[in-house]
Amino acid sequence: MLKSPDSIIKLTVQKNYLCPMNILILGSGGRESAFAWKIAQSPKCQKLFIAPGNAGTHQYGTNINIKVTDFEGIKQLVVNEAINLVLVGPEEPLVKGIHDFFLADEQLKNVPVVGPEALGAQLEGSKDFSKQFMLRHGVPTAAYRTFTKDTLQEGLTYLATAGLPVVLKADGLAAGKGVLICTSLEEAQSELTQMLAEAKFGDASSSVVIEQFLQGIELSVFVMTDGTNYKILPEAKDYKRIGEGDTGLNTGGMGSISPVPFADAAYMKKVEELVIIPTVEGLKKDDIPYKGFIFIGLMNKDGEPWVIEYNCRMGDPETESVMRRIETDFVDLLQGVAEGNLNERELTISPKTAATVVMVAGGYPGEYLKNKVITGTENVRDSIVFHAGTSTQGEDVITTGGRVLAITTLQNDMFTALQQATADASRIYYDGMYFRKDIGFDLL
Ligand code: AMP
Repeated sequence: MLKSPDSIIKLTVQKNYLCPMNILILGSGGRESAFAWKIAQSPKCQKLFIAPGNAGTHQYGTNINIKVTDFEGIKQLVVNEAINLVLVGPEEPLVKGIHDFFLADEQLKNVPVVGPEALGAQLEGSKDFSKQFMLRHGVPTAAYRTFTKDTLQEGLTYLATAGLPVVLKADGLAAGKGVLICTSLEEAQSELTQMLAEAKFGDASSSVVIEQFLQGIELSVFVMTDGTNYKILPEAKDYKRIGEGDTGLNTGGMGSISPVPFADAAYMKKVEELVIIPTVEGLKKDDIPYKGFIFIGLMNKDGEPWVIEYNCRMGDPETESVMRRIETDFVDLLQGVAEGNLNERELTISPKTAATVVMVAGGYPGEYLKNKVITGTENVRDSIVFHAGTSTQGEDVITTGGRVLAITTLQNDMFTALQQATADASRIYYDGMYFRKDIGFDLL
């Protein structure tokens, strides 16, 4: 059927208004699945690619098997597929300078990257850098000192005066394993020696931050910024230990919940004034360009927020819960970051509760089972199954990573959300399957 001139004008106007984009998400976890799920719903997204993605992300776009640190491979993809925006999921490519790589390349320099340049990514890439930043800009954080191999003796002496428990942090990225909470002086001194003199975490522990222990409840706060303006995304609480009742080894994250009851409007106002504004202003004062997410790990101590860490990307499994609560178009927000007009974009947040239960492989976080066939996802009733460590093998979906699936639901109240996510997780099966049944119940 021929289109009338009227409808042609309408279509052109609509297209210009929407400016459909080809978007590339880098990463392969539950966080990237949640991004892909949300972005695929946007009328502004024309084609979506996920590199490398997982067995679930192909529902939302095209998986391309390129590693997140293969910058040349990513360049070819961006050029060949006329990508208009790149959203970087994990920290590694950011710390390694993917944004800088784009800016320095003639063919890529006009393709916006959401995620900071290497300098800004140091907020996560170096604990010492981020502690100095906090101190410089008056952001509340625990007292600390930094030591190197050359100052090991001073470090051992400092530990004797530091009080217990004490926190030792490898300065660099250590795949989430570089933080040790020591309850005796002997343990602390032995760990410090191993980190500095024996390179326990390789280069990452060539400097070690020794930090005062903060007692309280943790909260993850997410800020999206274009370098000048910012938006506060829904806050979340994550659960890091493998065992119920927060026991056992640390993991990448076993579940999350959003909103968090103690983070009410008054508390979040305090966080904004004491932490978020000084952080965004601090980046400007220090001439650190920053377009992307700032994940602020807080300790709520007697109603006061203390910053434990910054990350230069969104959290996982918090993103799964956060994306479900964002009602407005996420691509519009990403565009705001890219174009530096985030203040003109709208962010509406659902008052409902999102809960995420992470299903892991048997043995995780130690040596874990792999290549187990996953069944039962079709039985899930009222949750989204975000894939993480999964692949396809013929007709089957199999487990390939430690964290396998993130089961996320959105319900009117917290109790129903927690029950629903847990019930839906139990409808899925693979050999060695495990998940915590107590996510969020401490908050009820
Ligand atoms: P980080 O990599 O800095 O987030 O540390 C990992 C985890 O260690 C945090 O999520 C906290 O549970 C814990 N942690 C880090 N620093 C402190 C601190 N100063 N006091 C208490 N717990 C901490």
